[in-house]
Amino acid sequence: MISRRHALKSAGALALAMASSPLRTLGQAASGPHKLPPLGYAFDALEPYIDAKTMEIHHGKHHQAYVTKLNEALADHPDLQKMSVEDLMKNLGTLPEKVRPAVRNHGGGHYNHSLFWQCLKKDSAPLTEGGPLMKAFGELFSSEDEAKEEFLKRAMGVFGSGWLWVVVTKEKGLKLVSTANQDSPLSNGESPLFGIDLWEHAYYLKHQNRRADYVQAISKVLNWEFIEARFEKLTA
Ligand code: MN
Repeated sequence: MISRRHALKSAGALALAMASSPLRTLGQAASGPHKLPPLGYAFDALEPYIDAKTMEIHHGKHHQAYVTKLNEALADHPDLQKMSVEDLMKNLGTLPEKVRPAVRNHGGGHYNHSLFWQCLKKDSAPLTEGGPLMKAFGELFSSEDEAKEEFLKRAMGVFGSGWLWVVVTKEKGLKLVSTANQDSPLSNGESPLFGIDLWEHAYYLKHQNRRADYVQAISKVLNWEFIEARFEKLTA
């Protein structure tokens, strides 16, 4: 029979061991170079188009998990820890094979969502009439209706989880591309201007399986002020 004194000693030893073990960080944000960026607005700021609960879980749980797992993947690679997530995604093909899949998924998730949050705002000013971005859209689509139709068609055509992007081409024009999972256009040498998250986690609570409704809702809360400024930077 184990004496009480022995049991206490064992419990104490276990507590000590746990305090210094990696188990302690389970369920917490692992320390590392990458941090969850603040959303920049309240969870309910996009209501009624995107509901507060979805924003809270999407940012605080899904995005946080990408950050945590990216840090975990880089734990034994101090050299890679010094790189920005953007540089990691741009240079995905040159990363050690052992970390490449994790960086592709979680680095991609971190980068894509960090951009996505900034591309959303309720009551954004519309695109500047006759501005550079409107002109670039004009080279891609003959009308706003055609743009919306094509956007919806492409979004519906993404099978499973992925993203629909507007990217800036080398010729400084625009192009619609889709990526699977959390793949980033950066890894294909393209510059994402903005993207629409087409994972069900982005819309299931409010829109369930109705992706088209969600895409319509998102189109109402695009932050054109931010996107336009980004376009000018990317084409400067
Ligand atoms: Mn997402």
